[in-house]
Amino acid sequence: MAEVSVRDLEVSFGHLKVLKSLNVTANDGEFLVLLGPSGCGKSTLLNAIAGLLDISGGQVWIGGRNVTWEEPKDRGIGMVFQSYALYPRMTAEGNLAFGLRMAGVARDEIARRVAKAAALLQIEPLLKRRPAELSGGQRQRVAIGRALVRDVGVFLFDEPLSNLDAKLRGELRVEIKKLHTELGSTMVYVTHDQIEALTLADRIAVMNGGVIQQLATPKEIYRRPVNRFVAGFVGSPSMNFVSGTVSGDGIVLADGQRVGLAGYEFAALPGEGRRAVLGIRPEQIDIRPAADGTAGMKLAVSVVEPMGADTLVWTNAGSDAVSVRVGPDASFAPGQVLDVSFQPAVASLFDAESGARL
Ligand code: ADP
Ligand code: MG
Repeated sequence: MAEVSVRDLEVSFGHLKVLKSLNVTANDGEFLVLLGPSGCGKSTLLNAIAGLLDISGGQVWIGGRNVTWEEPKDRGIGMVFQSYALYPRMTAEGNLAFGLRMAGVARDEIARRVAKAAALLQIEPLLKRRPAELSGGQRQRVAIGRALVRDVGVFLFDEPLSNLDAKLRGELRVEIKKLHTELGSTMVYVTHDQIEALTLADRIAVMNGGVIQQLATPKEIYRRPVNRFVAGFVGSPSMNFVSGTVSGDGIVLADGQRVGLAGYEFAALPGEGRRAVLGIRPEQIDIRPAADGTAGMKLAVSVVEPMGADTLVWTNAGSDAVSVRVGPDASFAPGQVLDVSFQPAVASLFDAESGARL
């Protein structure tokens, strides 16, 4: 069993309290992604799990053991960093074997593990090359291989794809997902890239300011964000936010139009006149007038962006910008006013002040 659990974790750097009483668990075999903007404490949390920094409070449990005071090498983890941190003078094979040699693992066991990792990562033809003779993507495969040979149940990744170009990043992302399926090990993966999080994770922990905002499946995070921060951080282009005030079972926008929200499941019943923000994703808006069960809005077109597979139409509702994702053949002109509609059940409503889901 290789569950990873962090309990009431506190980490400070001097006077800066980065993590305050943080709790999170990655279940055995789970792919857990820590997602958040730069500086929110993702690496700090991962390094605390790995034992690479001093914590000021709380506990770290791995595989049912309290490892809070154990050395990184004794925690049963393999770690992959953004910078590959390979030894430049050693071949790929030497890099894979080095840690095992230092740990006194028998020669034929090292050979067996290196061969297995090399096969999994398809780097057998590269084993005799030095890092300088490898591309960025190949180097990162070797770095992943170096974690794999440790034969552990838990892998920690800190933005392993951030140094690669977009195409390689996409390819290696798929490889990492395959690897997780094949190994069935527990993976905790740090990224600021919401696409990586959505594609890789069993569950995502969205972090901001050292605090986990929401811990849920990618689908739940995308469909029912618990607050405006999560809503805006996940999804590209971002969820649209339209300001207004609550009126009956709907919301009156700044430009005076009323949008009925019958069918929306309120998380908390807002009072009449409460300032609120309607959140609606670009692909949830249909360019057709409201009919039974849908809510209607008028949007004025400002810019049209053809993107190949689809087209983004940028519009305004009062002073709020609203993007709408439509098919590739749609043609709209700036200035045109569109009657659009959406299903209230798929929308989000947030409190204007606290940002909490209403
Ligand atoms: P992330 O990985 O989410 O980008 P980090 O965990 O690296 O964020 O950093 C969280 C906060 O802690 C940031 O404000 C960062 O400046 C600070 N920090 C991280 N490491 C140190 C350190 N060694 N000394 C002082 N401050 C640090
Ligand atoms: Mg980081």
